[in-house]
Amino acid sequence: MVKSDIRVCSAWETEHERPVYTLGDACPECGAPSKNSAPAPFSPDDPYGEYRRRARKRRD
Ligand SMILES: [Zn+2]
Repeated sequence: MVKSDIRVCSAWETEHERPVYTLGDACPECGAPSKNSAPAPFSPDDPYGEYRRRARKRRD
């Protein structure tokens, strides 16, 4: 069963400050292979996602 076609950059944790989602086989930003986002770090619909992203951003 395919839950979602959304894939995520396999190297986002080191290459980006947030998950980079794509429908393709490779990250559009860094070119790393994408991986199925099924066990996603967090859901794009996660109501706390934006809060965490803001928290991360604040350190930069
Ligand atoms: Zn990437």
